[in-house]
Amino acid sequence: MRYGTRSAERSEIYLNYRLYGEADRVDVMDYFVWVVRDAGGVTLIDTGYNIRSGGRRGRTMLIEPPAALAAIGIGPTEVDRIVVTHGHYDHTGNVEAFPNAQVIMARAEFDFWTGPYANRIQFADYREAEDIAHLSQLAGTPRLVLLDDTTTIAPGVRARIVGGHTPGQLLVEVDDAAGTVVIASDVIHYYEEVERDMPFAVVSDVPGMYHGYEMIRSLAANAGTRVVAGHDPEVMRRFPPIAGHPGLGVMLSVV
Ligand SMILES: [Zn+2]
Repeated sequence: MRYGTRSAERSEIYLNYRLYGEADRVDVMDYFVWVVRDAGGVTLIDTGYNIRSGGRRGRTMLIEPPAALAAIGIGPTEVDRIVVTHGHYDHTGNVEAFPNAQVIMARAEFDFWTGPYANRIQFADYREAEDIAHLSQLAGTPRLVLLDDTTTIAPGVRARIVGGHTPGQLLVEVDDAAGTVVIASDVIHYYEEVERDMPFAVVSDVPGMYHGYEMIRSLAANAGTRVVAGHDPEVMRRFPPIAGHPGLGVMLSVV
């Protein structure tokens, strides 16, 4: 579901953009959360930014993520689990709006954002202290589950630790009747990253990011796999709209 948007210059999007010798221009960057709903319950993949954290950064909020869920009939207490794919502000807001949800993230990611380097200028702008404090409050309770390796978090739903963009960036694979939907989150923000091997500007480990692109390519080579990029407006064109809610998001699979 697309909840936010902004414009950004390509020199802001791609790491060392001058290396490509191409003219700069403005691209659209969209913001999404993803929902897996089946007999196993409701899994929310990322929770978006909130009004405060997005507003302070000049982002356009199209619909607050909890309201987007409500629009498709999912109340805040019906979310069983939340995968926080990484610790950036546009993925960690609103967690407190879902009081019954177990929160799942990579241990390396949690340790990084609660550790000594998160406040350094190269990282601090991307983390929202209030959100990290909320995640920290869940630490040590059954509501926070920290992953050390690829883990099946619900029937047919796997979280895979990739890294690159951040130390414990996750992607989520969801099996359906046609194959697998790969929710790449920020392993790739744009399809162009993997198509042209162009690392994203915000990165904690460049070889790790290239490795993530290789992983996406190898997953995409499997018949029936659909890859969903984390911030690409192309997502809204590649997949059909949610029935009855044009513009709110896309349907990746219907079983
Ligand atoms: Zn993001």
